[in-house]
Amino acid sequence: MYSAKSTKAEEFINNEEVLKSIEYANLNCNNLKLIDEIIEKAKEQKGLSHREAAVLLVCNDKEKNEEIFKLAKKIKEDYYGNRIVLFAPLYLSNYCVNGCVYCPYHAKNKHIPRKKMSQEEIRNEVTALQDMGHKRLAIESGEDPVNNPIEYILESINTIYSIKHKNGAIRRVNVNIAATTVENYKKLHDAKIGTYILFQETYNKESYERLHPTGPKHNYAYHTEAMDRAMQSGIDDVGLGVLFGLENYLYEFISILMHAEHLEAVYGVGPHTISVPRIRKANDIDPNTFSNAIDDETFKKIVAVLRIAVPYTGMIVSTRESKECRKEVLELGISQISGGSKTSVGGYYKPEEKDEDSSQFEVNDNRTLDEVVNWLMELNYLPSFCTACYGSGRTGDRFMSICKSQQIHNFCHPNAIMTLKEYLVDYASDTTKQTGEKLILRELEKIEDISRKQAVLNYLDKIIKGERDFKF
Ligand code: SF4
Repeated sequence: MYSAKSTKAEEFINNEEVLKSIEYANLNCNNLKLIDEIIEKAKEQKGLSHREAAVLLVCNDKEKNEEIFKLAKKIKEDYYGNRIVLFAPLYLSNYCVNGCVYCPYHAKNKHIPRKKMSQEEIRNEVTALQDMGHKRLAIESGEDPVNNPIEYILESINTIYSIKHKNGAIRRVNVNIAATTVENYKKLHDAKIGTYILFQETYNKESYERLHPTGPKHNYAYHTEAMDRAMQSGIDDVGLGVLFGLENYLYEFISILMHAEHLEAVYGVGPHTISVPRIRKANDIDPNTFSNAIDDETFKKIVAVLRIAVPYTGMIVSTRESKECRKEVLELGISQISGGSKTSVGGYYKPEEKDEDSSQFEVNDNRTLDEVVNWLMELNYLPSFCTACYGSGRTGDRFMSICKSQQIHNFCHPNAIMTLKEYLVDYASDTTKQTGEKLILRELEKIEDISRKQAVLNYLDKIIKGERDFKF
C-alpha cells in the first residue's frame, strides 16, 4: 500500500501508485482545464505533488508547454537569482564488488585499470583542485568493503579538509558512496560531510534487480531506504538522483518526487539536491544498448518540471552534458554544475595515459574551470564557490525554511560575490578577471540594504589584501 510516511521502500515508492500516476498523467495530457489549474497552483511557488507534476511533464499542448518553461525560468530566478554553484567530482577508488550493468566499474569488467588513491595521491589531487579554484568537492568511490572500507573514506575526507595550499581550501566535501549502515552514516556526519548523495539509478524494483544482478547493491530495499538511514544518523542534507536512460523516464520522474515527498513527510525536510544524469558511453558500456535513452527536448522538460515541482531543491547537472545542453538547462532550473571535471581515479594532478584510462564515463564538456567560469559570466550568471550555509550550520530544515521563504538570496548573493572575488584574485586568467570585476560591480548594485552592501565592500577590500572565507 502506498504511504509517503512509511519507511519501507515498497510503500513510499509504491509500484501501483507510480503506475496509476502514469495512467492519470497520460489520460490528462490534453486536459487543458486541469493543466491550467496545475499551472496556477505552481505559480504559488510551493511545489506540486508527483501526480500534478507528471501531468505537466506529459502535457503536449504547445502553448501550455511554453507557459511551463516560462514558469520554470521564473521560479529559478526567484529562488536562485543568477547564481550557479560550482563543484568538482573526485574519484577515490574504482574497485567495486557490484555488478551494475551500466557502469564500467562493475566487478566483472577486466579491461579497466583498477586504482585506489593513497592519501599522498589524494593530497596531490586536492592541491591541484585548489589550484584550479575549487572549494567544494563530491567524492566518489565504488563499493568494496576490502579496498574501500568506511575507514578509508573517513581518512580521505580528513586528508581533504586538512590541506591548506596557498589561499586554497576545500570547505565542503559531499560524499557519494554506496548505501551503508546508520552507524557508518554517523561516522560520515561526524567527519563533517556536506551532502550525502546516492543515486537510485532506477526506482523500478524489477528493473533495479535486473540492472544490479550481483553484489550488495542488488538489494533494492536497502538501497532505496539509504536516505532514511542517513537522516536517522543526523545527516540532514541528502542528494537524490536517477540515471535517466535505464527505465521509462516518467516512472523515474514520478518516483523521485515520491521519494522527495517521503523525506519531507517523515523527516520534515526534502532532498537538498536532485541530480539528473543521463547514461553515457564508457569503457565496456554502450549507451545504445539501453532503450530508454531520452532526447534533449525530454531532458529539458524534465528539468523544467522538476524545478516547478520542488522549487527549493538544488538541481545538479554534470559534465555528462555538453556545453550547449548545459546552457539550456541552466535557464530552466539547474543551480549547480561541475567544472573542469575528471571522472577518472586521479587525473587532476597528472593526466592519465590513454591506456590507463579509469574514467566512469566520457565527459561531454571538456573545458577548464576558468573557461566555465568565464562562460557563465558572459551569460550573465554569477558563479559561486560559496559553502557558507554548511559552515554556518544552515543545513537540513534550517536551510529549507530560509529557502522556502525565499530569504536565502540575502545570504547567497553576497556570499557568491565574495567567493567569486576570491576566485578572481587567486586563480582567474586575465580575461576572466576582467569579465568578473565588471560583473561584481553590476551585482553590488543589486544589494538594496545599504549596511549589507557596505559590509560586502569591506570584505571585498579585505580579500584583495589577502584575507579569506568571509560569509553571511
Ligand atoms: S555504479 Fe557504483 S556500485 Fe555500481 S559498479 Fe559502478 S561504482 Fe560499483
